[in-house]
Amino acid sequence: MFLPVERCWICDGRSLRRFHESGLDFQAYATQDPGLHAYTGHRVWLVRCAACGHGQPEKLPTLPRFFDRMYDQQWDQAWVEDEFEGRSKDFIFQGILRALKRRAGSSPRRLLDIGAHAGRFMSLAQQDGWTVEGIELNARTAACAARRTGAPVHQVNVHALGAGGHRYSAVTLTDVLEHVPEPLSVLNAIADIVEPGGSIGVKVPHGRVQELKERALESLTSHHVSLAENLVHVNHFSVKSLELALERAGFGRVVVGPGSPELLPVSSRRLHGVLANGLRLSVWAAARIPGGVYSPLALNLQAFATKPVESAR
Ligand SMILES: [Zn+2]
Repeated sequence: MFLPVERCWICDGRSLRRFHESGLDFQAYATQDPGLHAYTGHRVWLVRCAACGHGQPEKLPTLPRFFDRMYDQQWDQAWVEDEFEGRSKDFIFQGILRALKRRAGSSPRRLLDIGAHAGRFMSLAQQDGWTVEGIELNARTAACAARRTGAPVHQVNVHALGAGGHRYSAVTLTDVLEHVPEPLSVLNAIADIVEPGGSIGVKVPHGRVQELKERALESLTSHHVSLAENLVHVNHFSVKSLELALERAGFGRVVVGPGSPELLPVSSRRLHGVLANGLRLSVWAAARIPGGVYSPLALNLQAFATKPVESAR
């Protein structure tokens, strides 16, 4: 039911040490997908590469389209609409748009958001002057994103989009790359669809720091260390592995900093919300001091990189 993963997906290192054992539970899929359901009860170790610090599973399920099947959620329509209206990630999204704008210079501003979800970021990018497209594999969120933005939302992977000749001056992946096995394959495909001089923005959880946070919470509360049960997160990036992944895909001018926090909505500004937002912003600001990205204050990583103009691709 599994195939071993023997090398680091980022640097090909073979020195991989176990750090957390994760359980699989697909009881909810008993009738929808018996093949997926059969993995319930199995356990998978996560291992960390001694060379680049990247975390990944020790083995992967052999069930065809395992991850697509896992993400085939039949989301409620009202929930999807709320996801579009929700503002909790706007601070993150606005920061990404500012950084891309700084890199874009005078090049054409065509942006592809991979994992577009309900289309919130696409919509904000449109308001910022970008011509947008999205990739979203879930039919319900893809339909919402297309309807709310009036823009193309492709229900194919990035490899297929590239083969179709589509090209962009910027590509974004926000909270997406941690879900994708063999991330270099995706980054290589993205490098093919980014125009020379174009940019990529990638936000992921900071693997080691998320682990520390979960362990701290577990020691203080009833929180149970999950570290992405069910292989929801297959990549646990370090600063080095994220940097290296972008470089190996052919990108230059790679910068990795702390990712901006999600903020509670202004409308629920009770004291709790104000304090929680204040704390998150303080931690993020502290992580922005030089070297802070390597500290436990950087809960998320935000990388930007640019495809060289003289790129061979
Ligand atoms: Zn490695």
